[in-house]
Amino acid sequence: MNYFSTKDNTTKYTPREAVFRGLPPDNGLFMPESIPGIQIDTLKGLSLPELGKKVLEGYFDDIPGNVFDAILQSCLNFDIPLKEVSPDVYVLELFHGPTMAFKDVGAGFLAGCLNYYAREIDRKVVVLVATSGDTGSAVANGFYGQSNIEVVILYPNGKVTPFQEQQMTTLGGNISAVKVDGTFDDCQRLVKSAFLDKTLNEKLVLTSANSINIARFLSQSIYYFHAYNQWGGNDAPVFSVPSGNFGNLTAGLIANKMSMPVDRFIASVNINRTFTDYLESGEYDPRGSVPTLSNAMDVGDPSNFRRIDHLFHHHVEEVRSEITSYSFTDDDTLQAIKDVYENSGYLMDPHGAVGYLGLKKYGRPGIFLETAHPYKFHESIDSLEVDIPIPDQAAKFQGGEPRFTSIGRSFEEFREFLTNS
Ligand SMILES: *Cc1c(COP(=O)(O)O)cnc(C)c1O
Repeated sequence: MNYFSTKDNTTKYTPREAVFRGLPPDNGLFMPESIPGIQIDTLKGLSLPELGKKVLEGYFDDIPGNVFDAILQSCLNFDIPLKEVSPDVYVLELFHGPTMAFKDVGAGFLAGCLNYYAREIDRKVVVLVATSGDTGSAVANGFYGQSNIEVVILYPNGKVTPFQEQQMTTLGGNISAVKVDGTFDDCQRLVKSAFLDKTLNEKLVLTSANSINIARFLSQSIYYFHAYNQWGGNDAPVFSVPSGNFGNLTAGLIANKMSMPVDRFIASVNINRTFTDYLESGEYDPRGSVPTLSNAMDVGDPSNFRRIDHLFHHHVEEVRSEITSYSFTDDDTLQAIKDVYENSGYLMDPHGAVGYLGLKKYGRPGIFLETAHPYKFHESIDSLEVDIPIPDQAAKFQGGEPRFTSIGRSFEEFREFLTNS
């Protein structure tokens, strides 16, 4: 399979080049040159890793079959069950992975691919990740124990939750945490500067684990097929996806183009409604983000918008023919968590609740994606006075000894850290 930039269809990249680079040099996004079809009835009854192989092998055809099997087995080693919440309303629980967020699948798959590609070039690869919280822990866990890779996570001092900090700083091994005395933007700037620094790049092979990486983005299409396998309805389901950067939803579009039947996609968002407004007006008008309870979706300029625009040939009418978007406030979200808990005993986190609201509003049988375990966001639903049992994955991080290096905002300090470690 070859990959092209959404901005340039003349330069080809192999899967390995696209994974290593993350982004094409022209600032577009990588897309596969074609989307392979799949016989949907051949997927029935397959385990998650088997299903993953059928869905993804065409996209990563430079990885040998036995290596690919092992990668899938290690990143899909937890359940992704579909449960009924109320008649015609189903939830796909994506939070049973090591950090209790759906990003575990993509991060684990990317880690496995990079580890294989790194072995091929026989040099230590350093993955740099700037995080505001969730991505860092999913990436850290995905890469933990991969022998050919060192991971350096930069996070802003005082701006991540104590639980997130615990998740990033207690692993040790090939994972180092750097606490930056600054903001998330400072962390991102330090990472960018490192990629541009000549001497550093002579010494180390640097790469990133950004969510727009094809390995993170494409691997998410697995769970749509897995949901469909568990779907008993006669008609194709609606999929309501709580969305921020729209990687998850775009992976659903890919699954659909590979032949998976879908009634409609609902892009459910909080009040960061750039995409909802785009479907209404036909104009894409990016803006700054506004903080909400579903903070992993606080995005004013969704990075995968260009992939959607590309898939639908830059025609908003084509996008409208497959996707509906609704936006909900924090009050709507809290009310939905409360109502659903009282009526059916099912506890949603704020992100899943936005997905639930979108499905209900559209009003046809379907599935909403629950992207995080409610425990992860228990502070924001404490007012509802619901007892949330601490899940096993959370217990694992408690009591570990946090290890991190503190630095200021200057690039010199970060460079020194990278050179000496
Ligand atoms: C990242 C994230 C989202 C948003 O996913 P996108 O692919 O960026 O649209 C939703 N919920 C949770 C819990 C997340 O961590």
